[in-house]
Amino acid sequence: MVPMYQRNLGWIEVICGCMFSGKSEELIRRLRRALIARQKVAIFKPKIDTRYSEDHIVSHSELRIPSMVVEDPREILHNSLESHVVGIDEAQFFDEGLVEVCRKLANMGKRVIVAGLDMDFRGVPFEPIPELLAIAEYITKIQAICVRCGNPASFTHRNTPEVGRVVVGADDIYEARCRNCFEPPEPESADSPKSKKEQKQNSNSDS
Ligand SMILES: [Zn+2]
Repeated sequence: MVPMYQRNLGWIEVICGCMFSGKSEELIRRLRRALIARQKVAIFKPKIDTRYSEDHIVSHSELRIPSMVVEDPREILHNSLESHVVGIDEAQFFDEGLVEVCRKLANMGKRVIVAGLDMDFRGVPFEPIPELLAIAEYITKIQAICVRCGNPASFTHRNTPEVGRVVVGADDIYEARCRNCFEPPEPESADSPKSKKEQKQNSNSDS
């Protein structure tokens, strides 16, 4: 008997990595290809991220594509019923409700492409990305280049003493760093980062 393949099969793709790794560029590249194939594409980003544009997804290299700004991930569901492909940028700024929304969209037969930071500035997994990675069919983890040493970078270093998890900024506040050069902030004594930096540099210079 010939196996029956479902033609409108949906799935979830996650593009993750640190800042400056090209996540938005990769998302835009995939969405552009879908648009060229005349697939219906809906693109969303969280309201918090207004760094560059109110109604476009913009990568650091100024690639841009029109997008809808939403506050609650459930708005994504209502606004993508007619779409074949659903793109979601800066997914780490959505709450856990995004996981269920992505699952529903994929179950409806849609291709869901999610881009987001997998770790925060402390190097801690950034929800809801970890759960999305677990339920996704395809995962692409990309690296930036460490501004200190030139090795592949997977960590986002914050250059300000602010301790809140979400501080929106670009290369004025953040740097991509490799595992060796990354200095996670201390939870309590974030006031003496310089001495720690120097200690770490000294201990790294042997290797
Ligand atoms: Zn480095």
